[in-house]
Amino acid sequence: MKIIFINVKKALSRSGLPDLDYALNPYMGCYHGCIYCYARLYTWIKEIRENWGEIIAVKKNLINVLEKEIKYLRRGIVGVGTITDPYQPVEAIYRLTRKSIELLLSHGFHISIQTKNTLILRDIDLLTKHKHSVDVGFTITSLNDKKSRIYEPKASPPSMRAYALKQLSSKGIDTWIFYGPVIPGYNDDLDTRIKIIELARETGSKILIDRIHIKKFMYNRSHPLHKILFIARNYPWKRFIYETMKLCRKYNVDCIPGFAEPSKNKTTLDSFIQ
Ligand code: SF4
Repeated sequence: MKIIFINVKKALSRSGLPDLDYALNPYMGCYHGCIYCYARLYTWIKEIRENWGEIIAVKKNLINVLEKEIKYLRRGIVGVGTITDPYQPVEAIYRLTRKSIELLLSHGFHISIQTKNTLILRDIDLLTKHKHSVDVGFTITSLNDKKSRIYEPKASPPSMRAYALKQLSSKGIDTWIFYGPVIPGYNDDLDTRIKIIELARETGSKILIDRIHIKKFMYNRSHPLHKILFIARNYPWKRFIYETMKLCRKYNVDCIPGFAEPSKNKTTLDSFIQ
């Protein structure tokens, strides 16, 4: 892995994601190197984009810029790690995520963290102290460590993510699971869905579901997802989401689909019935 250092003009950006006011990404590039990762498309440094997972840019003046910004910005919800993972391994050295969230929490912001790395447990003291202003989501695409290694080669194994989720939830922190992307043949099977729903029930987490989005770079014949493109495009997504939400209801777990165009713009189970 190669580390480079950059200066930024802004620390917080306006978020286009629902429920978030701002986005904060301390690092550009992501060592986890998930094969389906779309984040490269939002990365303006060509070298990082073309060597995804190998080069990480550390925003070295981030904390100084953030200190200035929070003096005049309206308080709100900050999504931490909306593009790249805020707890990827470089965070163990540079601690930009920890310093940023300390600053934000002490100035009245709410933070919403999304990660695939158990390094977050290093900050459990801080997160617990401010638990009413924090929520944490783990991306869990499968609970099979062996399969996950192919799709998310350098993220924490999902069994460890599940452990971390339980730890955070046991401290009273609001937790959620991002079950996405759903990839046909990898994690759309019943067993995977039941295991994820059971974990959500155990930890009192809600589940956000998202399917694979086909991107141009996947059309490259050498890309590992190239072979599933046709299947993904013709997959019965509406049926999938209907059945998954039915399961969620059975387990009394709150599930929110991020796709599948339900009728009447609703995300209730009934809206997915043809
Ligand atoms: S953890 Fe997230 S940002 Fe990092 S490579 Fe995987 S999908 Fe991309």
